[in-house]
Amino acid sequence: MKIQAGRSVLELVEGDIIRQDTEAIVNAANQSLLGGGGVDGAIHRAGGPQILAECRQLGGCPTGEARITTGGNLKARYVIHTVGPVYRDGLHREPELLASCYRESLKLASARGLKSVAFPSISTGAYGYPLADAARIALKTVKAYLQEHPEIERVRFVLFGQAAYAAYEAAMKEL
Ligand code: ADP
Repeated sequence: MKIQAGRSVLELVEGDIIRQDTEAIVNAANQSLLGGGGVDGAIHRAGGPQILAECRQLGGCPTGEARITTGGNLKARYVIHTVGPVYRDGLHREPELLASCYRESLKLASARGLKSVAFPSISTGAYGYPLADAARIALKTVKAYLQEHPEIERVRFVLFGQAAYAAYEAAMKEL
């Protein structure tokens, strides 16, 4: 499914983030930036040691912020690493921190002149963010950014599995 956001396209696909041919893919990293499970493990396995070597130089990343490295052996030229909030009860700034991840990642893409970015569903795996809430925040935040920033032509959410895709599709229909 896809919609227009200003002059840009916002689209949903079911698939694997490491296979995307967008100029950047986004990693749901942890604060150390030194690798982990889920999307993070898949990106480092597929991208090779170059990405981790660059991450070591960055000295970590606070929750809600983002950092950029090259894409190593991936099709994508860059990886944007962002650290989502660990979900507790929704009353510990989780919504604003999750929104910040999407915005800060897109700001890095804009600053580098990148025209296409693929995101996974940040925080909805090991970090436990409820999928329906996370989907609403993700899509609302990215749509608002694209409406102000036509320099990014395409944002793709790459949802891992049917349940994640269905949650994002429902949220997109309500935008
Ligand atoms: P977090 O720690 O931010 O929760 P995870 O990597 O554990 O990050 O999970 C985030 C989301 O990414 C989950 O919905 C998970 O199903 C999904 N995911 C896991 N592997 C991949 C992949 N290769 N491509 C896209 N999404 C993935």
